[in-house]
Amino acid sequence: MLDPFRRRISYLRVSVTDRCDLRCVYCMAEDMTFLPKRELLTLEELERLCGAFIDLGVERIRLTGGEPLVRRGVMQLFEALGRRIGPKEAGPGLRELTVTTNGTQLTKMADGLFRAGVRRINVSMDTLDPATFTAVTRWGKLDQTLDGIFAAKAAGLAVKINAVALKGVNEDEYDRLIAWCGEHGFDLTLIETMPMGDVAGDRTDQYLPLSAVRRRIAERWTLVPSEHRTGGPARYDTVAETGQRLGFITPMTHNFCESCNRVRLTCTGTLYMCLGQEDAADLRAPLRDPSVGDAGLRDAILSAIARKPKGHDFVIGRDARPSVGRHMSVTGG
Ligand code: SAM
Ligand code: SF4
Repeated sequence: MLDPFRRRISYLRVSVTDRCDLRCVYCMAEDMTFLPKRELLTLEELERLCGAFIDLGVERIRLTGGEPLVRRGVMQLFEALGRRIGPKEAGPGLRELTVTTNGTQLTKMADGLFRAGVRRINVSMDTLDPATFTAVTRWGKLDQTLDGIFAAKAAGLAVKINAVALKGVNEDEYDRLIAWCGEHGFDLTLIETMPMGDVAGDRTDQYLPLSAVRRRIAERWTLVPSEHRTGGPARYDTVAETGQRLGFITPMTHNFCESCNRVRLTCTGTLYMCLGQEDAADLRAPLRDPSVGDAGLRDAILSAIARKPKGHDFVIGRDARPSVGRHMSVTGG
């Protein structure tokens, strides 16, 4: 699948629910209205749609949300997709199934994820300070996420920690996070806040450019630029002192669109060709129309890919409305 700018689309992110058990301040308002259940694709529909993408050349699927692990029965989807993972020698097909989670359910689910074929996961944790963690997530308890992270490690999953860089909130903690990740064998990625969805509060107050953060980190740690790529937009360094990787996702300060290989599917079957644009294609209608069939579904996907835009138009400013009205929990980041 090639888009109009000849980028090969091989990565699908699927938001399996818009719901979450936390309310991170940069992601959601406290009082969110979620979709009625009947709007959601069933797990079987999600499986069929993912299957169509795999047949068209998608090699990596990441399940996300909202919080993917709070969707009832989601393990069934992991298992079904996991059965489609095969080695490159086997020809076209899925190579990797991953998940981005807040970690709260991992003590129960990490073993099941490993059995289903998941080998690495991203866990979002912005701070190691219990009070700051509760302030950022509004409802969360740091210990529950930490227990989840260690359950994942014990289950054999490679863990990468994602932390959103928040001015005045966790900006004095990066050294501690780097050291802690080094101690436990986790990679770490820092993410710039993106202006998505109304969250109450001013984004200019949260925004921290990572170019400055990296310079500050480099005063204390030896950062060796790395060629490592995970299929995502992060640029990695290796921290010489710990041997772990440190990634930076900088949509605001560095345009990461040129090498974009991904599209995003929501839990209602809407396909967003770009995280930072409003244009979308409805795949639920062809999916549910018995007269359409697999070939029609495939055509609907291909005509959406043919509309993938060149890049995003994010801007953060004091008077700026969110560049994109929907919340990150709709498309899953
Ligand atoms: N609930 C899961 C989690 O927190 O990992 C998966 C969904 S969450 C929307 C995916 C990622 O998006 C998380 O790492 C989160 O920190 C990040 N995120 C949410 N809102 C964001 C924003 N406005 N700017 C940058 N990253 C954001
Ligand atoms: Fe939930 Fe993840 Fe959004 Fe936090 S970032 S509110 S955990 S979806």
